[in-house]
Amino acid sequence: MTDNRIRSIAIVGGGTAGWMTASALAKVLGRDYAKITLVESDAIGTVGVGEATIPQINIFNRMLGISENDFVCRTKGSFKLGIQFVDWGRKGHTYFHPFGKYGVDMEGVSFHAYWQRLYQDGLAPWIDEYSIQAKAAEFGKFMRPIDAGNSPLSQISYAFHFDAGLYALFLREYAEAAGVTRREGKITRVLQHGESGFIEAVELEDGGRIEADLFIDCSGFHGLLIEGALKSGYVDWSKYLPANRAMAVPCSGVEDITPYTRSTARDAGWQWRIPLQHRIGNGYVYCSDFISDEAVRETLLANLDGEPLAEPRIIKFTTGHRKKHWVKNCVAIGLASGFMEPLESTSIWMIQSGIARLLSNFPDRSFNPVDIDRYNRVITTETEEIRDFLVLHYKATERTDTPFWDYCRNMEVPDRLAEKIAVFENSGRCFRENEELFNDTSWFAVMTGQLMKPRTFDPVAQLLSLEETQSRLNQIQTAVTNSAEYMPKHRDFINDHCAA
Ligand SMILES: Cc1cc2nc3c(=O)[nH]c(=O)nc-3n(C[C@H](O)[C@H](O)[C@H](O)COP(=O)(O)OP(=O)(O)OC[C@H]3O[C@@H](n4cnc5c(N)ncnc54)[C@H](O)[C@@H]3O)c2cc1C
Repeated sequence: MTDNRIRSIAIVGGGTAGWMTASALAKVLGRDYAKITLVESDAIGTVGVGEATIPQINIFNRMLGISENDFVCRTKGSFKLGIQFVDWGRKGHTYFHPFGKYGVDMEGVSFHAYWQRLYQDGLAPWIDEYSIQAKAAEFGKFMRPIDAGNSPLSQISYAFHFDAGLYALFLREYAEAAGVTRREGKITRVLQHGESGFIEAVELEDGGRIEADLFIDCSGFHGLLIEGALKSGYVDWSKYLPANRAMAVPCSGVEDITPYTRSTARDAGWQWRIPLQHRIGNGYVYCSDFISDEAVRETLLANLDGEPLAEPRIIKFTTGHRKKHWVKNCVAIGLASGFMEPLESTSIWMIQSGIARLLSNFPDRSFNPVDIDRYNRVITTETEEIRDFLVLHYKATERTDTPFWDYCRNMEVPDRLAEKIAVFENSGRCFRENEELFNDTSWFAVMTGQLMKPRTFDPVAQLLSLEETQSRLNQIQTAVTNSAEYMPKHRDFINDHCAA
C-alpha cells in the first residue's frame, strides 16, 4: 500500500474560523502527520464580530484541553445562560430562550407538555419559572454545575461571550505552540492545476508561495478559494432571512455583567447586546430594503448602555451558503462557507461542526468524491435545519407596526418549518428531527416565547392526574428558585475565577 496521506495543509485566513481550524487540526493530527500553515493578512483584518456562543463550544474547549478559566480571562469573556428576546412576539413582550431543559420529564413525557396542560388553564406560571438558566439569568447569577443529585444545580448549561479579536489571539498562541506555522501576507493569486482544477498553491503579494495538498478556505465573506477560484456558487436565502447588513459598535458600561445575550427586535431587524468584562458589544442587524443606514445608526446609538467606544461600522452580507462547502481539495469553513445571521449565535458552532466533520471524513490525496459528497450533504442539511429555526423567530410574530414585520409575518417558509408550526399549533408538540442542532426544548421555548398558541395540549400529558402534575410542578419551581438564589452573582463568579 502506498502512503497517500495528506502531507501539507494550508489554512487561508486567521479569523475565528482559521485559528479554530488550525488549533483543532494541530491537536488531533499532531506534529508529524502533516505540515500546517496558516496565512492571514493584517491589512485585510477579520470581520471583528462573532462574540456569543452556544454550549457546544465546551466540547471544543475540552477537545483542545484548554483551561476554561484561562480562556475566559484571556478573552475578557463572560458566561451565557441563553438569550433574552425583547419585543419579538409583540412590542412590550419579553421571553428567554434558555440553554438546557425545563424541569424534568415525567413518565417519559416532556416537562413542557405537562406545563402546557396547566398553563392553558391558568394553573401554572410562565415557563421560565422552571428553567434554572432562565431564573439565574433573571437574578444575574452564575456558577458552573456541581454534583448535587437531582438539584437543578447539577444541570446548569452554559456558553460564553468573548472578545473575538482576543479569542483569535488566544487560539493563535495555542496553534503555534502545537506546531502550526503562521505566514502574514495578502494572497493575490490562487494557482490551480491546468486539468484537474485542484488548487496547487497560493501566491502572496510579497512574492511568497504556499503549496499544499489540502486547502482550507477560512477567508471570510471573500471566499477567496471556494468561490474566487473554484466557483462553488451560492444558495441565497434572503427571501427567508432578509437581513443583509449589520451595524456594530462597542460601548462602555459593565458594572453588572448580565449572564445572557439580549436580542431586541427593532423596526427593520434586531439589536444584539453582548456583555464582556471590558465592554459591551452591540449591533443592529437589518434589511436595507426597509430602513436607511442613518436611521439604524440613530436607533443603535440611542440604545446603548454607555458611551460608544468606536465609530459604528457596517458589515454587509447575503444570508445563505455555498452550493458546495468542499470542492476538489478545498474545504470552506466559517463565513467563507456561508452565513445565516447571528440571531442564535450559530456561526461559531458551524465552524466547530465543519472541523469535526472534516476530521471524520478526512481525505487522502485521492480526494474520494464519496467523502466529499457526504460532507457537503451533511453540512447543507445542518445549515438548513438551523435556517428553519432562525426563520421561526421572524415568522411567528404578532407585530404589525412596520413593513419589515409585515413582510416577515406573511412570508412563505420552508416546508419543514411549515410542518413544525402546524404540529405545534395543533397540540403544542415539538420535535428534534434526526441530529438537528436545536432540540425540542429550544423549539418549544421560541414557539411559546413568540406567542404561538396551540389549539390544545399533548394528550399524553394526562398520564399524571391534575393534582399530581400541579404538585410536581410546584416542587420543581421551588427547587429552581432556591437553586438560582443560592448561586453567586455573575460578576462575583468572574472576579473569583477568571477576571481579566
Ligand atoms: C454582524 C455579525 C455578527 C455575528 N455574531 C456572531 C455571534 O454572536 N456568534 C457566532 O457564533 N457568530 C457570529 N457571527 C459570525 C462570526 O463572526 C464568524 O463565524 C466568525 O467570526 C468567523 O469568521 P471567519 O474567520 O470565517 O472570517 P473573518 O473573521 O472575516 O476572517 C477572514 C480571514 O481571512 C483573511 N483573508 C481574507 N482575504 C485574504 C487574502 N486575500 N489574503 C490573506 N488573508 C486573507 C483575513 O485577513 C482574515 O484573517 C457574526 C457575524 C456577523 C457578520
